[in-house]
Amino acid sequence: MNIEEIRQEFPILEREVDGKPLVYFDNAATSQTPLCVVNAITEMYNCHKANVHRGVHTLSQEATDRVEASREKVRAFINAASVQEVIFTRGTTEGINLVASSMGEKIFNGDEIIVTQMEHHSNIVPWQLLGQRKRIRLIVVPVKEDGTLDIEAYEDLFSDSTRFVAISHMSNVLGTVNPVKQMIEIAHAHDVPVLVDGAQAAPHMPVDVQDLDCDFYAFSAHKMYGPTGVGVLYGKKKWLERMTPYQGGGEMISTVSFKNTTWADLPFKFEAGTPDFVGIAALGTAIDYIQSLGMDNIASREQELLEYATARLQEIDGLRIYGTAPHKGAVISFLVNDINSYDMGLLLDKLGFAVRTGHHCAQPLMERYGVTGMIRASFSFYNTHDEIDRFAQAVQRVSAMF
Ligand SMILES: *Cc1c(COP(=O)(O)O)cnc(C)c1O
Repeated sequence: MNIEEIRQEFPILEREVDGKPLVYFDNAATSQTPLCVVNAITEMYNCHKANVHRGVHTLSQEATDRVEASREKVRAFINAASVQEVIFTRGTTEGINLVASSMGEKIFNGDEIIVTQMEHHSNIVPWQLLGQRKRIRLIVVPVKEDGTLDIEAYEDLFSDSTRFVAISHMSNVLGTVNPVKQMIEIAHAHDVPVLVDGAQAAPHMPVDVQDLDCDFYAFSAHKMYGPTGVGVLYGKKKWLERMTPYQGGGEMISTVSFKNTTWADLPFKFEAGTPDFVGIAALGTAIDYIQSLGMDNIASREQELLEYATARLQEIDGLRIYGTAPHKGAVISFLVNDINSYDMGLLLDKLGFAVRTGHHCAQPLMERYGVTGMIRASFSFYNTHDEIDRFAQAVQRVSAMF
C-alpha cells in the first residue's frame, strides 16, 4: 500500500487543529471519506438526481440503476445469496431496530434474547424497547477480563425460552473479534436465529454472511469510507418473507386500498419512503474503493498499526489497555492511572489528536470494568507509524501534567 498516495485521497487528513496537524484516531466512530466517494455524491446531485423506482424518465432510470448497482455491490461485498436479502437503511441502528420491531412480532411473551456484555447501546436498547411491548428478558453473555466472551457461559445460557441472539462481530471498545461463526452454530443447534452487529467488522475484515450463516447482519456506510445516513441490513430471505414491514409508506407496497394493502416484494417491503439514494449510490463507490485497496491488505495494514501502537502505548507508565484478546481489530481503549478520560481527551485535542473519550455507547461494558469512561484510539489503514509515535509522546506528556 502506498500510504502517501492513499492519504491524498483524504484531504481532511491535511488539516490542522489549533495550529497542530490533525491526527485522526477516531475511525471507529466514523471513518473519513475519500475524494472518489465525495465526487460520487456530487455527481449524483449534479447529473442524476431524480426519485428512484418511480419515474419512466431518463434521470429516474439513471438514479434507480445506480441504487440497484450499489445493492449488487453490497451483495457481493458480504457474499449474500441474493440482492433481495440486501435492505438499505439509515445505519446499523436502524437495521437492528427494524429486526427488533419486525422480527420481534414473532417473539412471544416471557421469552429470552441473548446479547453480550460488550454490546453497543444500539444492540441493547431496541431489545429493551421491544421488552416494553412484549415480556422479553435480556440474557447477557459475560466478558472475561481480557475482553473475550465467555463462550462456555454462552452455551449454558440457552433454554427453552431462548428466541433470539444479538451479538457484535467486533467490539467498538475492546476491539475483540468474536467467534461469531461458532456462536451462530451453537444458536442454530438450539433453533435460534442470530443477528450480528457488523458496524465495526464490515470496514476492516472480509465478511461472508453465507459462511457465517448469520440470519441478519447490520452495518453502516459512514464507518466504511462511505457517506453518512446510509446502512445495510442483510437478512435471510426465509425470515424477511415472514416478517411484517417495519414502516409503511410509498415504495413498500404492491397495491393500496382502504380495504386491503399488499406488500411489495423483497427487499422493497422494508424500504418505505424515498431512500437516501444519493448516499446509497455513493456507498457503491466506497465499496469499489475498498475493493481497489483489497480487504486483505487493509486488514494486514491495520493489524500492523495495532501491534505497533500497542507496543508504544505499553511503554507508558500507569497505562492500562482494556481488551487484549488474541483476535482483535485496530482499536485501543485505555486509561492512564486515575486520569479522567474526558480531561485527557481535551488536552490531546489541543495537541491535534482526535480520539474518543467516555463510555463509547457501551455503559454496561464500562460497568464491567468498573470505570465510567475510557480513551479510545482507533486506526484506519491511512494512519501512519509517525502519527502513532507522536500520539504516544503526547499521551506521555499529557499524563505527566496530572
Ligand atoms: C457505531 C456502532 C453502532 C451504531 O452505528 P450507527 O451508524 O450509529 O447506527 C452499532 N454497533 C457498533 C459496534 C458500532 O460501532
